[in-house]
Amino acid sequence: MNKQLFLFISLSLIFYLAPAQTDITVPELKEHIQYLTSDKNAGRYPGGHLNRQVVRYIEHQFKEFGIGPFGKSYKQPFKTQLRVKEGNPPKKDVKTWNIIGYIEGGDPQLKDEFIVLGAHYDHLGFGGGPSSKSDKIAIHPGADDNASGTAALLEIAEKLEAHKDSLKRSVLLIAFGAEEQGLLGSKYFTENPIVPLSQIVLMINMDMVGRLNDQNQVYMGGAGTFPGGMDLMTELGEAEGLSPIVHAGSVGGSDHVSFYKKGISVLGLHTGGHPQYHTPEDTADLINYQGEKKVCEYIYHVLMAVAATDRPMQFIPQD
Ligand SMILES: [Zn+2]
Repeated sequence: MNKQLFLFISLSLIFYLAPAQTDITVPELKEHIQYLTSDKNAGRYPGGHLNRQVVRYIEHQFKEFGIGPFGKSYKQPFKTQLRVKEGNPPKKDVKTWNIIGYIEGGDPQLKDEFIVLGAHYDHLGFGGGPSSKSDKIAIHPGADDNASGTAALLEIAEKLEAHKDSLKRSVLLIAFGAEEQGLLGSKYFTENPIVPLSQIVLMINMDMVGRLNDQNQVYMGGAGTFPGGMDLMTELGEAEGLSPIVHAGSVGGSDHVSFYKKGISVLGLHTGGHPQYHTPEDTADLINYQGEKKVCEYIYHVLMAVAATDRPMQFIPQD
């Protein structure tokens, strides 16, 4: 066999056997979580040049995937008040950002309807604030809370972009800032939306999705806030080998609340609490990466069930 032909066949074989880069993969999830939790990001506290560094990472990923911004910039800046323990002097407001990617749907009418996929990227810095569960002043890496959700956002975004030809509705991918300071990024977005809120048909939030347990239990609130949500979430979860714990209401705890308060259908997903929650011990080595990949596939399919179809959507309030 001549050398060139041999080379051609080998390369084709490698290309064929290697998983497409646009897939949701364990090594890529790991890479994102390791970067986000690394000491140089110091617990992803809002404000300053360390915050900018994380923002640049997320922007860079969107760009790499071929995902553009909505309008000119990926960044939605806002001022945020930082929480302090009672009795402590107030901190100065800082500037922080939501980072927003946009994938346009292909249906002439339905592309004006949006699905928001969101996850907060901030965490507690060195701790010491009112929501810390530990007295230690040390980097809080927040691997599960919420490097896991941020990594999921990036990996699902990449796969969505690769399959965007099948999208009818449009998708906004939002990494929220300052969630730990009181859902401030999502609050700011819903007060200053870049598309009319009436055109957002569903918001899916991922906060702490890295600790899937042995029973494969994924918890969610809000499945009753849109037609057929309970069945959809159960069926798609089981198809992925998961045991979804599906609540119609129970909308609480994270950024989806800001959307729900505006009368938008929401889903808030997580894989459950743990003793390392809001302590310096929420580290990357405790993440169940295979489990997180499953959760990502699940959420990807949920998104497609709404974004790639003309499934009727409507807000159903829950008590
Ligand atoms: Zn948290």
